Amino acid sequence: MYSQVVVNVPVLYDRVFTYQGEAPLGSLVQVPFGNSARAALVVGHSPTTDIPDEIKCLGKTLYAGAVWLSSELLSLAEELAHFYLCPRGAIIDLMLPVPFAAKEVSGLKRVKRAPVRLEETLTRHAPAQLMPEQIEAIEQVKQALTNGHAKPHLLYGVTGSGKTEVYLNAISIALSQGKQAIYLVPEIALTPQVIANVVHRFGEQVGVLHSGLSSGERARAWQKVLSGESQVVVGARSAVFAPTARLGLIIMDEEHEQSYRHEGGVNYHTRVVAQLRARQQGGVLLMGSATPSLEAYSSAERGGTKLLQLTARPHGTNLPEVNIVDMREELRQGLSGLLSSPLRQAVALGLQAGEQALLLFNRRGYAQMSLCRDCGHIPTCPHCDVSLRFHAGVRLLKCHYCGYSMRALGECPRCRGQQVHNRGAGTEKLAEELRALFPDFLFTRLDADTAARKGAHQKLLTEFGRQDSHILLGTKMIAKGLDFPRVTVAGVVDADSGMYYPDFRAVEESFALLMQVAGRSGRGTARGRVFIQTYNPEHYCLRLLEKHDYSGFYKVESSLRRKLSYPPFGGLATLCFRGRDQRRVLEAAQAVGELCASSGAIVALGPVAEAPARVKDIYRYQLTLKAKNRKTLQELLAGLRVRITDLCSSSARWYIILE
Ligand SMILES: [Zn+2]
Ligand SMILES: [Zn+2]
Repeated sequence: MYSQVVVNVPVLYDRVFTYQGEAPLGSLVQVPFGNSARAALVVGHSPTTDIPDEIKCLGKTLYAGAVWLSSELLSLAEELAHFYLCPRGAIIDLMLPVPFAAKEVSGLKRVKRAPVRLEETLTRHAPAQLMPEQIEAIEQVKQALTNGHAKPHLLYGVTGSGKTEVYLNAISIALSQGKQAIYLVPEIALTPQVIANVVHRFGEQVGVLHSGLSSGERARAWQKVLSGESQVVVGARSAVFAPTARLGLIIMDEEHEQSYRHEGGVNYHTRVVAQLRARQQGGVLLMGSATPSLEAYSSAERGGTKLLQLTARPHGTNLPEVNIVDMREELRQGLSGLLSSPLRQAVALGLQAGEQALLLFNRRGYAQMSLCRDCGHIPTCPHCDVSLRFHAGVRLLKCHYCGYSMRALGECPRCRGQQVHNRGAGTEKLAEELRALFPDFLFTRLDADTAARKGAHQKLLTEFGRQDSHILLGTKMIAKGLDFPRVTVAGVVDADSGMYYPDFRAVEESFALLMQVAGRSGRGTARGRVFIQTYNPEHYCLRLLEKHDYSGFYKVESSLRRKLSYPPFGGLATLCFRGRDQRRVLEAAQAVGELCASSGAIVALGPVAEAPARVKDIYRYQLTLKAKNRKTLQELLAGLRVRITDLCSSSARWYIILE
């Protein structure tokens, strides 16, 4: 008997190797490879082989031959490698709960498959009172689950319209049919309330997969899913690979969130993987959002996805009132500090009435850069091409890319001048301003700095939830999935930096983020008020946000996108080049650009240096490739892949982000 295996060596792409001997499909083995032993995953068996060379034997099995990937996941890996033009070994590496390495992690044991126990799949809590639209949505999902092989479903519902209740009911139905469910959330740490809800409803049948688990914990959680002991899996994007053998339902909450995009050597979007898995196993993909991605909504428009709508909030509360604050006018009126007078007044009134406020400022630290007014020196990171950010509390200048830090002494490190000026504020500066404005009230600051320690994030949210503090301020971490009924005022300190970020999705992301923030206010009985500060009040993103007009936004944004042939209306790929020698990386990227452009069907733009151009001493260049559709790009790049690798040889690592 012969076994076919995949190893994790990027340049081998989709190559499969044959060895003599047999090990279970989806298990890890050691194989002799070149001069060393490597880990390999068994992907196939055959009784004969037509390979003429001498065939080596499989080495020892790892983890006593435990199966980590089902045959469905093995074929998914093959399909994804083809779809995204990335090495199959690298995809398998992402899927595995244990390291893809020739050495075992100790303390893992094999778990036997448990029988399905239907009586245990009943839900423990009576469901909440449902609205007619919720009942209709649940009915549609039930039909799809019963029939199998359904289109994806998109649950488009305004913030606070009770999408979670639809998800929980859909899970109940899947479980009652003896099927497993995967519930995907954008980020585990940012959605403690969602997880609590699921665990509360389905108890011990829930397995939570997240990056905070140790290898051993992760492997055990994985085996529980594989054995059928965990019927519901909750997790961030990597949970889309959970080894559910009886997969009936995949829920993708906040489908529009950017954290569903995985970038690095392998670039995939969770929506695409979920769609492939659901199709493969005859399950239903249920995506939900108040601001669906252009990809999901355009698919619903074309009929490829079934659209379900929730237009009302169950408690009858109105959507918040959105006020766009013109900061140009505020400046003319003598604005000093970060908060405009309407936002300041609204916060003050709310606090006096015993309510809470939430303020988004999507920049951490105290200042974005320090400038010496005597000699013009701006301290920069020695390893990255960025200026260091000033953090007042710890008196440090920090690099937000590599973590490098140096002490901030209050004098210029170059000329010893005393006129060091901090420019561009961050959350820390906002906190200082709030302390001065509202000395009688307490606040909670939530950003990557305050949430750095394990459990700190949860603690800070609990503190605000118990009303131990009155204002929650922070980066976009505060915008996700939180439900605090006492919050009546929400403010966005700076809407412009997000909308004008140089990325074709910047406006779409801003619209979604601002809508999310707005949706955090007025979830109780009182109507919420939202204040968005901008120097561009006429921008269509803000004008449409003011009216809560997602479909209006979709119309404008999709027509702009279509005009420029950007996804989902055209093919776009980014080739990224990385290396330590700047000149050689650039030359490799230029050579690849010429090769791609010579094909005729592709427009190659660049190469250009990425921002920042250097991170952790690695230089970064990219080429943008456009074609009339994705398929053209995929086919051309599949053909060029080996030649591109040759052109880069030892000068640069490279990978493809194929939208
Ligand atoms: Zn100086
Ligand atoms: Zn750095």
